[in-house]
Amino acid sequence: MGEWSDYFEDFPEEAPQGSTSHKNVKEQREKVLQSMNAEAFALIAKARQKQIEADEAAKKPYLKSVELCPQCGENALNLYKLKNSAYLCECQDCGIYGKGEDSSLALQDTIAAISEERDWRVSSLFVE
Ligand SMILES: [Zn+2]
Repeated sequence: MGEWSDYFEDFPEEAPQGSTSHKNVKEQREKVLQSMNAEAFALIAKARQKQIEADEAAKKPYLKSVELCPQCGENALNLYKLKNSAYLCECQDCGIYGKGEDSSLALQDTIAAISEERDWRVSSLFVE
């Protein structure tokens, strides 16, 4: 006794076409949707990256130093002195931020924000 696939090879008209092609259409549709989603996400990511780069360029003149981040521990906490002479900390790694009248107050505000899930990439306090 041979395999079912051998039988359908000999009699292709008896193979369960209906359900297979229906499944194929569904899979095809899902693939198209997935690739559309991927394209949309790629576009959004690209626009976001451009915005981040533009923001970085705007912030660069105000960057005073890079400190250890109190939340993630990375040497990625940018300390800015803004035009209005306020200080702003923004971690380039985890996104935490804090603001104050001097650098230590800005750092204290950042420390106080630990576990608040603050992210300057979502809402930045940066002003020129
Ligand atoms: Zn961090």
